[in-house]
Amino acid sequence: MTEINIKPSHGKGRSCVITRRACFSASHRYWLPELSPDDNAAYFGSCALAPGHGHNYELIVSMAGELDANGMVLNLSDVKKAIRSEVTAQLDFRFLNEAWPEFDLSNPEGCLPTTEALTQIIWKRLQSHLPLVALRLYEQPSLWADYLGNAMDTYLTIRTHFAAAHRLARQELSQEENEKIYGKCARPNGHGHNYLVDITVRGMIDNRTGMLCNLSSLQSLVDDLIVETFDHTFLNKDIPYFRNCVPTAENIALHIADRLTNPISAIGASLHKIRLQESPNNAAEVYAEVPRLEINPKTLNEMATH
Ligand SMILES: [Zn+2]
Ligand SMILES: [Zn+2]
Repeated sequence: MTEINIKPSHGKGRSCVITRRACFSASHRYWLPELSPDDNAAYFGSCALAPGHGHNYELIVSMAGELDANGMVLNLSDVKKAIRSEVTAQLDFRFLNEAWPEFDLSNPEGCLPTTEALTQIIWKRLQSHLPLVALRLYEQPSLWADYLGNAMDTYLTIRTHFAAAHRLARQELSQEENEKIYGKCARPNGHGHNYLVDITVRGMIDNRTGMLCNLSSLQSLVDDLIVETFDHTFLNKDIPYFRNCVPTAENIALHIADRLTNPISAIGASLHKIRLQESPNNAAEVYAEVPRLEINPKTLNEMATH
């Protein structure tokens, strides 16, 4: 009699990424005991105010693995339990500065409970329980951190918006030709959008401030160089760059990246990505970092033999 193979074939050995979302509410205060009150206020702005302030945090945990006999990477109730016991039950309704020893500032190794530091520490606490591939932590809908397990690369994103008008048309073409390419977007008097811009910076977290770069400085750069410059303008006429460059979503995203790259390096981070959403139906993304040169022993050997 032939034996019937009843071994399930879910996924056939391929892996899958699953995500789980968890929320908690907590308060914090940015205040370093070694700084004077004036320096704390100057460096951390209103985040330095006593006794602190709170956020509704949203944590997204991504995990990967092969499917088990039940057709799952992991049993979601185990995932839920691990996130609850290791993270949310310890942080929900707590003052973060006092919740975990990593945030004890009387210890010289302690750091401020920033979104990016919290994301890294949550990773360290969850990694022995879950097969993590990425963590995202929203402090609010306009500020979040991403961490993929590499201490050299933490990502922080801030979201802002501006309203502006534009017209898509190439000066050297006729109205008819422009309408063939750009459709209604080429109409002579322009039209407007409420643009959403996500600015993602990358870098290492400072051991003491817990920050990838000074958040108030980053916010001011974005306010001054992007929002103040573009808000309530007709891009084609008011922004010199767009006098000879069609302000498509792609070109606006590239121009924003060009304006921010050097000022963001000057505050100690790297501009990683600009995402410009023009409408609910279209967006453009620009990866701003130049890929690093791949210098490894193999390429050096090749160079040596030629
Ligand atoms: Zn805060
Ligand atoms: Zn448009």
